[in-house]
This record gives sequence, structure tokens and C-alpha cells, in this order.
Amino acid sequence: MKNYDVAVVGAGPVGSTFARYVAEKGLKVAIFEKKKEIGVPLQCAGLLGKKIKDVNVLPDEFILNEIYGACLYSPSSTMISMRKKEEPLAYVLDRVAYDKYLAQLAVDKGAELFLNHRAEKIDIENGEIHFKDKKISAEIIVGADGHSSIVSEAFGNNFKSVHASQFLIDTGKNSFDDDYFQVYVNSKISPGFLWIIPLSKSTARVGLFADFDYQDLSGILNDFLENNEKLRDAKILKKYHGRIPIYDSKKNIVNNRALLIGDAASQVKPTTGGGLIIGFKCAKIAAEVVHESISSQNIDILKNYQKKYRKMYNTELKMQLKVQNTYESLDDDNLDSVILKLNEKEVGKIVSEYGDLDSQSPLMIKLIKSGVIFSVLPNLLSRKIFGL
Ligand SMILES: Cc1cc2nc3c(=O)[nH]c(=O)nc-3n(C[C@H](O)[C@H](O)[C@H](O)COP(=O)(O)OP(=O)(O)OC[C@H]3O[C@@H](n4cnc5c(N)ncnc54)[C@H](O)[C@@H]3O)c2cc1C
Repeated sequence: MKNYDVAVVGAGPVGSTFARYVAEKGLKVAIFEKKKEIGVPLQCAGLLGKKIKDVNVLPDEFILNEIYGACLYSPSSTMISMRKKEEPLAYVLDRVAYDKYLAQLAVDKGAELFLNHRAEKIDIENGEIHFKDKKISAEIIVGADGHSSIVSEAFGNNFKSVHASQFLIDTGKNSFDDDYFQVYVNSKISPGFLWIIPLSKSTARVGLFADFDYQDLSGILNDFLENNEKLRDAKILKKYHGRIPIYDSKKNIVNNRALLIGDAASQVKPTTGGGLIIGFKCAKIAAEVVHESISSQNIDILKNYQKKYRKMYNTELKMQLKVQNTYESLDDDNLDSVILKLNEKEVGKIVSEYGDLDSQSPLMIKLIKSGVIFSVLPNLLSRKIFGL
């Protein structure tokens, strides 16, 4: 007899959400978290598309700011902007408090939470997790242990991720239009990018992800602040860093008695590195499949999770990979010219109508069908990437 029906490794937002779903279905669930305190240190910009409210509970108290629009800056500072008029397009969250809240919800539904429990070895065939001084067993083990997942390692998966750095800054004055987040692109950091996400008119999260180490990323952020007149004298209140997994369509996310969710499964958007909404949706699919597998005592059913995930995300993520490849192929002159042309064609209006932080394929299809992509990208590239 196993100790638990389901053992979840990692009490991040995705693991806690999954644990809540399976606890609600009446399964005996435990969550093992290596940290003493959930959610710290912050490793997120906390920007979530408005769809978050359809995919998980989000009480207003965790929303620090509502975002209505975005400004995209080319290497030479040509700017293109878009805005939703009536409703916010995204929210900026207090991620630390939200992570704690999601874990508490799982506990309220009956999940047992063990802090200070670092899983050291996983036996995916027998359903065992080994800690420093004990081991536990479960019918199914769920790896929700982030980008360097030990559960994923037990599958024989490779880790592919990039570093991200972020500063919390305070300018002490009215420096930001807090309705807009800002994105800066250039060929040095592509396919990564730099962001400014305002929490208020004077405070913001300024960060970037790119294929450099932390030190270099912090150097790029410092230079960015130094070269920006409005931000030059800003106080840096906090510095954070983290890793963003690289999306991998071939990653194996089910093996024996174990499956992976969230960053552990590289469930992130290739274009932005955002992982919360996709992770929450996959947690729901995984919970249904796990429940069915345990109810019918058939471990093979777990394979349906991988099939369902791929079916649901294949088109969207393939499209995002194309966007990412396009961005990566452009040098600074190309990027300037593309953004200038997009601006001339008033693409901001199309983006305002079709743009969605989480599913970018409707916008891309619109831009392809209307011929905009063909007219702004260098010819050879649009043919190579979009087959136009
Ligand atoms: C700088 C930065 C900015 C980001 N900005 C955004 C954004 O704006 N919007 C967005 O949607 N996404 C963003 N992301 C991505 C987002 O933070 C992740 O996708 C999200 O945290 C994934 O949640 P998770 O629960 O899968 O993993 P995590 O949040 O990484 O949680 C994993 C948990 O597992 C625990 N753990 C790890 N190993 C073990 C072990 N061996 N034993 C026990 N416990 C273990 C960890 O301590 C952690 O608590 C950003 C990421 C970074 C780095």
C-alpha cells in the first residue's frame, strides 16, 4: 500500500494548483517543497494576460496593477503601441503572495504540504521519492519542480533554459504611464527581450531574458537604465534572477508512474517565456488524467496527458516558434525597418483587435492573410519562415 495516491514535487503555482484539483477529486495528495517559505525569492515579472481569470482563481487583492496596452521599441527607438480600450489586457501580480495563496487553497482542499522537503532522488518505476532522511511512495509522482526538475532528470530529459534578470526600481517621480508595459528588442538579446512592467507611476519591474549569464544580463540592465534619461537616477530596490525553460515540443512529459507539469515540462510560451497560464491549463488536464488513471487502476492512461497537451498546444506553439525564429533572424537594421513599416501600416490597430498575450496565432493568421507579414519582412525570410 502506497503512502499517497499522488505526490507532487514543488509547491510553485502550477504544483499547488494541480494538487488542489486532485484533492478536490478526493485523492490523497502530498506536496513536497524544498524551500522553507513558498514563493520567495520572486522569480517572475508577474505579467499575466487577462485570460488568467478564466483558468485559475485570482482574487483582486493579488493584482498590483492593470495593464491596458503595450509599447514595442525597436533598436533605434521607433515605437509601436497598442491599447485595449475598455478592459485590461493583462494584470501585474504580487506573485509571492499569490503563490502562497494557491498553496493554502490546496491545503484547504485536503492536500498535505511539507515545506523544507527537498526531493533528492525519484524512482519513477516504483513511485518513490527519496529525501535526506526518509522516503515516501505514491501511485503517481508529479514533477512540478521548475526548470531544473529532478523528476524530469529521472526521465532522462535534458535541461534547456536561459537566464533572466530583473530589477525592482523606483524613480521617485512620475516616470511611467502605468497603463502600458514596454518591450525593447534588439539583435544582441534576441530571441530574448527587455521589459518594463510598471507597478505604479514611479515603480516598475525592469528585466530581460537572453542567452547570457546573470552577470552579463545585469550589466545590460544597468546600461539600459544608465542610457535612459528618465530611469538614470532610479533607485534599484531589489535584484532578482531566475531561469526560463526553452520550450521543447519533443520533451517527454510522461514516464512510468510520473508526469511533469509547468516549467518542469518546459510548458512556456516560446515568444515570451511566460509559463503561468499554460502551466495552469496543463495542471487541469493532468489532474483529470491522473484521477482517471487512479480510479481505473490503469497507469497507461497517464499517456493521454501528453497526447492531450500536444493536441491542445501544437498549432499555437508552432506559430510562436515561427515568430521567435523570425525575430532571431533579424539584425538591428531589419528590426528597425520592420517596426517602422508595421507602424506605417498602423498594425497597432490590428494588434489591438486581435492581439492576445497568450494565443498569438489569431493575430499572426490575420497578419499573414492581410499580406502585412509579406510586406514588412525581408522577402527571403518571409518565404523561408512562413512559406509565403
Ligand atoms: C525573471 C522571470 C520573469 C518571468 N515573468 C513571467 C511573467 O511575467 N508571466 C508568466 O506567465 N511567467 C513568467 N515567468 C515564468 C514563470 O515564473 C514560471 O513559468 C512559473 O513560475 C512556473 O511555475 P511552476 O510552478 O511550474 O514552477 P516554479 O514556480 O519554478 O516552482 C517550482 C517549485 O519547485 C520547488 N522545487 C524545485 N526542486 C525541488 C526539489 N528537488 N524538491 C522539492 N521542491 C523543489 C521550488 O522551490 C519551487 O517552489 C518568468 C520567469 C522569470 C525567471
